[in-house]
Amino acid sequence: MKRKKYLIGNWKMFKTPSQAEKDFSEIVTTLATHQSCDLAIAAPFVALPYLTERNRSSIGVFAQNAHWENEGAFTGEVSASMLASIHATGALVAHSERRQMFGETNQTAGKRVAALLKQNLEAVFCIGETLGERDSGQLAQVLRAQIFEAVAAGNLRYSTELVGSDPARPRLTVAYEPVWAIGTGRAASATEAQDAHVIVRSLIAEALGSEFAAQVRILYGGSVKPENIAGYMSLPDIDGALVGGASLTPTGFAQLARSM
Ligand code: PEP
Repeated sequence: MKRKKYLIGNWKMFKTPSQAEKDFSEIVTTLATHQSCDLAIAAPFVALPYLTERNRSSIGVFAQNAHWENEGAFTGEVSASMLASIHATGALVAHSERRQMFGETNQTAGKRVAALLKQNLEAVFCIGETLGERDSGQLAQVLRAQIFEAVAAGNLRYSTELVGSDPARPRLTVAYEPVWAIGTGRAASATEAQDAHVIVRSLIAEALGSEFAAQVRILYGGSVKPENIAGYMSLPDIDGALVGGASLTPTGFAQLARSM
């Protein structure tokens, strides 16, 4: 199965809507003819309508979270159906910063993924271990719990909702992001990342079937930079990257895209 490579920039809680709009349009202009991989930016909620309204490019616009109910008394949340209404491409789910600072669990993550898929939006489901978990030999166990508990809570099944209309670009993407590598400058080695991706793909096969495991794109995230991205992309189970810091400038994002 040929999986199309995917680069997603995570702008976290940076940029006003007008800065985001300016930087996004520079990215669109610079990479308009770039076809070798899929590209997307995950921007703060307030910037999203500014990016989606005028976006005629194939570069996706993601939120950084999505609630599972369409509406209700959930102060501070934004629903998957609201994201669909502004033509967002999808949302990140359970980024480690949300898990660590805002109480995200595997169960809530699964419900968020299911709600996005139900709206025919993409979900980028983030998983990854802490340094303590890796050092005490719990990597596979942690990844198993993150995947299986989310799949059960979201009642996720192999389906057209999961795959979408193009098997080379399924709607569900997994981002393997070791917590110790995010924003720390200490990236996983290419071998550490590839080994973890093999585990993730086999867990996805167990949870959602081997057909989907062959299709699902597994992105690496954690201190990816223009200088190290090519090393990851050369490996068979690394299908792209989710990048924070190095994606914040249009030049940085374009450099990453060209090195995929
Ligand atoms: C991220 O935000 O998902 C991330 C991986 O950040 P950084 O690239 O800055 O480590």
